[in-house]
Amino acid sequence: MPKFDGMQSDLISIRFLMGGIVLTVAVLAIHMLLPARTLDLLEPGVSKHFLEAPPQAGEETAVQWVDAGRLRWRCQYVASGKYQPCVLTYLLTGDDLSRGRDLSGFDHIELELDYQGPAPFLHLDIRNFDPRFSRLEDANSSRMHAVTLRRRDVEQPVRIKLSELNVPDWWIQMFNLPREYNQPSLDNATSLSIGIPGELTGQHHELQLRRLVLKGEWIGDDRVYLGILLAWLFGACTMVLRGWQRLRLSHRRQQREIDALTARTRQLRIEQENLRRLATVDELTGVLNRRGLEQSLDDMEEAAQGMSLVLLDIDHFKHVNDRHGHDCGDEVLRRVAAIVAANLRASDVIGRWGGEEFLIACQGTRVRDAARLAEKLRERVQQSEVSCTAGRLAITASFGVALSPPGGSAANALKRADEALYRAKEAGRNRVEVDRTLQSDSPTTV
Ligand code: GH3
Ligand code: MG
Ligand code: MG
Repeated sequence: MPKFDGMQSDLISIRFLMGGIVLTVAVLAIHMLLPARTLDLLEPGVSKHFLEAPPQAGEETAVQWVDAGRLRWRCQYVASGKYQPCVLTYLLTGDDLSRGRDLSGFDHIELELDYQGPAPFLHLDIRNFDPRFSRLEDANSSRMHAVTLRRRDVEQPVRIKLSELNVPDWWIQMFNLPREYNQPSLDNATSLSIGIPGELTGQHHELQLRRLVLKGEWIGDDRVYLGILLAWLFGACTMVLRGWQRLRLSHRRQQREIDALTARTRQLRIEQENLRRLATVDELTGVLNRRGLEQSLDDMEEAAQGMSLVLLDIDHFKHVNDRHGHDCGDEVLRRVAAIVAANLRASDVIGRWGGEEFLIACQGTRVRDAARLAEKLRERVQQSEVSCTAGRLAITASFGVALSPPGGSAANALKRADEALYRAKEAGRNRVEVDRTLQSDSPTTV
């Protein structure tokens, strides 16, 4: 599953990257192909325009339209002592003269102008109404942004960047405002004027406007690139977060699997231990079974310290079964095993050798001590009573004791213990008989 999850996640990452690339290319293409933002001031109805000094009756100086479409005008200055502008102005406001157009999104002005006359320079300016200091009664108080154009530069269609327009020194000095108010800003442009600056006395000028268009992008390059960058950053953060979350989940899942495996291993160990115990323990009496006894005898043989064996056989046990029932027989077996177990040392081993026979192996024990132990056990068994349905039952057992000297064979000793037990039975039961062969022959008994 984790491998599959990893592949799935790689696939999602690749899809995400591909999607991001396609989206970026699409945004760039749309940005490049998107038609420019345009404001054509010559288009009818877009903007009102007027000559700043219309002809006055009786004046020698004439500033007047030449054509009916009011795109061509003439300025004739004979002699005059006052300032005579030769300027065409486009109004960028509606009825409210303090609310102009936001030109800050435009990039440049495309201008086509025919000029006949002696002026070496032409002049273009944009006024911006700023409520902090501009007043409607003083048109001059709207901040001026101007550029002076060489005549030869406007003989061709020309493109004037709005960033070329600056606030003229005379305007700054005239209004004497704090420095931040003199920064160029076209967020509320109220008018755009084009004309001829300077002393015009005795001059004759004729101008025809063919094109006056403001152009810009709907969204600026910097905004598009910043948007793309932010989108990628957001995507990258999302990917990192997702990856981190995935790692956390996978770590948790692995931890859960490890915990489950650890618990399972512990459980298996317990089961294994139980099985091992069951394989060597007699279920009825709780002492070792024959296999457990054989293992213990093998271990003792290996230790080579010598041992004494005591074989115990319950007397007339068949009779107990026959008379009192099998359950009572089982109870007798449990009781005898308990009596023996309660009277042994920690180093002694007891097991059920078969049927109603128990074997006690006493490592490093002299045969006479083992015989003494057998005698004690015999007495304890004889003294005990087992309650069965028919009443209390007295039991006895016979014992055969034999020695397995250091390096000797337990099987051989067992055979001799069995022979001694047989003798005990023959002699009337409820007795301890000791194997004499080794005891008398070998003084090196343990
Ligand atoms: P003896 O005094 O000569 O030893 O006679 P005994 O009746 O004790 O000996 P025998 O070998 O004739 O009978 C042993 C009986 O033990 C036979 C068998 O049915 C019974 N027995 C063996 N295992 C079990 C057991 O697990 N439970 C019970 N209740 N009886 C068992
Ligand atoms: Mg028997
Ligand atoms: Mg018996």
